[in-house]
Amino acid sequence: MPDGLASRRIHCPYCAETLQIQVDLSAGDQSYIEDCQVCCQPIQLNCTIENFRLVSVEAQCST
Ligand SMILES: [Zn+2]
Repeated sequence: MPDGLASRRIHCPYCAETLQIQVDLSAGDQSYIEDCQVCCQPIQLNCTIENFRLVSVEAQCST
């Protein structure tokens, strides 16, 4: 794993598939939308980062 990135597994809120995401720890807290790799629906991801550690990731429907 490259420096500054953390990978996490999340569950798609639409199809419940397990997805692996990568989060850039140098950017601090971030919210963004990533399309599910399985059902292609937009997932809202809310990442909490403290001291360059990924504390939590929430995945929810973007609508
Ligand atoms: Zn999905």
